[in-house]
Amino acid sequence: MSTIVLKHGRVFDPSQKLDQASDILIDSSKGTIAEIGRDLKGDRVIDVRDKLVCPGFLDIHVHFREPGQTAKETIATGSAAAVHGGFSTVVTMPNTDPPLDSSAAIAYQYLQAKNAGKARVFPMGCITKGRAGQELAELGLMARGNSGQPGAVAFTDDGAAVPGSQVMRSAFEYASALDRVIVEHCEDHDLSNGAIMHEGKVSAALGINGYPSAAEEIIVARDIRLAKLANARFHVSHISAKGAVSLVREAKARGVRVTAEVSPHHLLLTDECCRGFDPVYKMNPPLREQSDIDACLEGLLDGTIDCLASDHAPHTSEEKAREFVDAPNGIIGLESNIGVLLSKLVHAGKLPLARFVEAWTTAPARCLGLDKFGVSGQLRKDGPADITVIDLDLEWKLDPNDFKSKARNCPFRGWTLKGAPLYTVVGGVVHDAIGRTRTAK
Ligand SMILES: [Zn+2]
Repeated sequence: MSTIVLKHGRVFDPSQKLDQASDILIDSSKGTIAEIGRDLKGDRVIDVRDKLVCPGFLDIHVHFREPGQTAKETIATGSAAAVHGGFSTVVTMPNTDPPLDSSAAIAYQYLQAKNAGKARVFPMGCITKGRAGQELAELGLMARGNSGQPGAVAFTDDGAAVPGSQVMRSAFEYASALDRVIVEHCEDHDLSNGAIMHEGKVSAALGINGYPSAAEEIIVARDIRLAKLANARFHVSHISAKGAVSLVREAKARGVRVTAEVSPHHLLLTDECCRGFDPVYKMNPPLREQSDIDACLEGLLDGTIDCLASDHAPHTSEEKAREFVDAPNGIIGLESNIGVLLSKLVHAGKLPLARFVEAWTTAPARCLGLDKFGVSGQLRKDGPADITVIDLDLEWKLDPNDFKSKARNCPFRGWTLKGAPLYTVVGGVVHDAIGRTRTAK
């Protein structure tokens, strides 16, 4: 067997209360972890002395734009960005063109990901045909998969909420029978119609149409009730509003099977950023207020919000150079997630390191039930060799020109950061991450 040993690292897996100086021996031919321990020997040695050696990170909310909008990103460039950013697994959204609403479309995602040979890519399928919100898509066929692929791992119409309660109720019932989670972009489109940012004093000062947090809260509240009715699992995408966090907290206390994710930008940036009309701050859900940030962080700390996810949403530079009102929504995150959150939350003492790692590993795996597809977010002997190695102390400047993503729409550009991923191991294959790219310069 050919082997690689990660030498002298700080092996860190909070789910197993693991925090010790150890080596990890990787069996490259099998793609698994052969041993975790001291004085291990291998054919290739990578010195990771004192570096944090974690389970491979998972980002369960990314947009890779293929098919249809490959000028923004492709499965190949997106999965290259993932491993460069420290992520061994990503879950892609189905709002491509055409949308991923058939088993053939899902199979194509797996094929392209395999050809790219970088991160593990698991696609979600649409809830409704054509993402039109009217008629349920073929959830059973998409979940079944074909050609040995596991099929759609969850269902969402992300980019939009499913407007009708009856369709949504059926979606929960089918998904439950199929052992899949329904993932909702929570927005009442009637209430947000014509709005392009958060409704508050900033939108009023700028004279721009905003939409209130209530638009998010209404759908979160509705879906909590529908999920309970069907005894189904409901995952709230990119939670951003204070009231939505409270709704999830109350529902969990009542035993409803609801989980939630929050994106780094909703923990770090407010609508004040929009005052300069820079479209890099335009996204949906929009940047909200400091009290929303505080509630999201509190929710992440107390477990109301289960995990982190980037909502990596690439656009071309031309599109993002339009006027604020005309530019598309979204920012990229795969290559900034780790450095930005380590710098601004973990090193700042606002988020414990163990919670940060858990929120990118076991927690997202649990939210979508990815262990049944072989991804648990843990470091285990004989388990997949999916590993993220992080230098907690590396000081660097975030420059989107270093990114492997096709896109550059990153609001954290130019930030001075402390902490970066160095290597991402996927199934025993070692990829250099952005911390290595920076130190090579
Ligand atoms: Zn969304």
